[in-house]
Amino acid sequence: MLHSPYPKGDAHHALAMPVYQTVAYEFDTAEAMEEAFCGRTSDHAYSRITNPTVEYFEQRIRQAAGATHVTALNSGMAAISSALITCAGAGANIVASPHLFGNTYVLLKTTLANLGIETRFCNLSDPDQARAAIDSRTCALFLETISNPQMEVADLRALSAVCREANIPLIADTTIVPFPIFRASDFGIDIELVSSTKYISGGATGLGGLIIDYATFDWRSNPILKNWGDTPRDAFNTRLRREVHRNLGAYMTPQTASAQILGLETLNLRFQRQAATALDLARQLQSLPRITSVNYPGLEGNPCYDISRAQFGPLPGAMLTFDMSSRTECFNLINRLKLIRRATNLFDNRSLIIHPASTIYGSFTEEMRRSMDVRQETIRLSVGLENTADLLADISQAIS
Ligand SMILES: *Cc1c(COP(=O)(O)O)cnc(C)c1O
Repeated sequence: MLHSPYPKGDAHHALAMPVYQTVAYEFDTAEAMEEAFCGRTSDHAYSRITNPTVEYFEQRIRQAAGATHVTALNSGMAAISSALITCAGAGANIVASPHLFGNTYVLLKTTLANLGIETRFCNLSDPDQARAAIDSRTCALFLETISNPQMEVADLRALSAVCREANIPLIADTTIVPFPIFRASDFGIDIELVSSTKYISGGATGLGGLIIDYATFDWRSNPILKNWGDTPRDAFNTRLRREVHRNLGAYMTPQTASAQILGLETLNLRFQRQAATALDLARQLQSLPRITSVNYPGLEGNPCYDISRAQFGPLPGAMLTFDMSSRTECFNLINRLKLIRRATNLFDNRSLIIHPASTIYGSFTEEMRRSMDVRQETIRLSVGLENTADLLADISQAIS
């Protein structure tokens, strides 16, 4: 992540990848333009399609994740929507858990539904329910490896086996524990989606999203991808890059790529530190008064502890939730904090707190929130780079 060479040399031998703040690229001849526009050379033509700074960021991700293709987009939601639109058309369906990030849930439930793509929500902690929901028009099983904010951990090997049996790809949002900590391809994930706004950015300076393709799925069984690509395993990436990506127009900007390249260089260090603090804090929050429960899959006794440990090791990310007796108690605690910041976003260098039910899920009906297991009593904490003692002291003073 530090020493990846540039795809093409820099004219000035810049050590840090320059920000190529340009829309277009000049050609020597009409013939060279034709070659580039028809995709027969890798020359850049227009920055909605490729850009040297963004391409370098994509290359580093590809090497770090051990993937075949990477596309960087301008938000996590752009990555999720572009990926699903690449493999699903009208009449197709997606099988998913309702335990999802709020915008992703509405994307599936409403936006894609209005385009004729149905989502079949089922309980993915039971692989039999997933199996029963799949039919000949299912084009993907989609899930979050650790759901935000329910912190439910999917059994990836069991679900990947269901996908193999049904000949559909496993597409996973791995934002909560990204590479290089979690190797998605070891668990049968074919397409990995990441909001790089979160850990990779670190300083929370810009939005970004990644589509990471391991080229492990044979797309000949997919009706809209069967005729794409030089090989059946490249079909998804070929349609994404030649059609969906350029037409939806959500490519990452070079400024953001530059900031996220910098974030990537310290990703592993920050992750280890923030996740270790999260575990420490989760343990200690359990003994504070007024906190009725703490939910972190790395906590011994958590219902997902064993499966989380097998998949993510001892530190499953830096997000935890805890419950208090009522929404009023939650608001009171949040209002009295002095160090932890009241903001949405995850894995900023600063710790951030939010009451999901009244904010991210604020426009949902109580019935929808119940079906997604989003409760009024729950607070979500994203743990930053501060000391455990300072964070604990802030929460303790707010409670007292
Ligand atoms: C934040 C988040 C997203 C959306 O990412 P943006 O970069 O905000 O568009 C998707 N999934 C999960 C799990 C997230 O935490």
